[in-house]
Amino acid sequence: NGTDTAHRRYLLKLSGEAFAGGGGLGVDPDVVHAIAREIAAVVREGYEIAIVIGGGNFFRGAELQMRGMDRARSDYMGMLGTVMNCLALQDFLEKEGIETRVQTAITMGQVAEPYLPLRAVRHLEKGRVVIFGAGMGMPYFSTDTTAAQRALEIGAKALLMGKNGVDGVYDSDPKHNTDAVMFDALEYGDVITRDLRVADLTAITLCQDNKLPILVFELLAEGNIARAVKGEKIGTLVND
Ligand code: UDP
Repeated sequence: NGTDTAHRRYLLKLSGEAFAGGGGLGVDPDVVHAIAREIAAVVREGYEIAIVIGGGNFFRGAELQMRGMDRARSDYMGMLGTVMNCLALQDFLEKEGIETRVQTAITMGQVAEPYLPLRAVRHLEKGRVVIFGAGMGMPYFSTDTTAAQRALEIGAKALLMGKNGVDGVYDSDPKHNTDAVMFDALEYGDVITRDLRVADLTAITLCQDNKLPILVFELLAEGNIARAVKGEKIGTLVND
């Protein structure tokens, strides 16, 4: 049953932007290949890995809305974008010899299974990677919130948030402030009251209400996914 916390089961949230490499838009196969190799290595060690990928390398609903589009329709575009990232990662994981299933919250039977949580858990138990696409299938939500919800539903031990270009949570933007200090650990309440941009508020409060730890770390540093699942001290841990 999906609510029994499996000790070696993690939900990995991957930044969509990271998938674009330097380009900002679309998918850079070299980057996806590198990420797939790291995930494959931990799966071979017996960790159960489920994945949610963002879609910022294709479309963000809020950005399209600012340019005059209907919000809900542009959010659906955003969700469809995440599915392309899922298929790219699935391809490279399978090239590494790791069986992978994509499950989408918007049904698209030719490319993926529908989201079926109990089946997702069975896949994980069999050593398959499960990639959840199309967010929650609902406009006005984010893939961060999706990641928190899926982590809870499959009984993941923690939500591992792989970021692009930042190694943890800072007290101010490290790209603009050379004095910015990174936190080793934070409480959910600090994230909310200090408005630290770990994830959107819906995701944070969902984790807080259900005591799901969040590790924020740099995704593209070699070996970091393995460090994250093994509980080594990297990034920022958000906890009770
Ligand atoms: N989205 C949505 N509902 C969801 C998940 C995602 O509407 O449950 C849309 C939303 O428009 C969002 C886009 O998909 O901007 C891409 O996801 P996100 O911005 O979370 O990607 P990231 O910034 O993590 O790459």
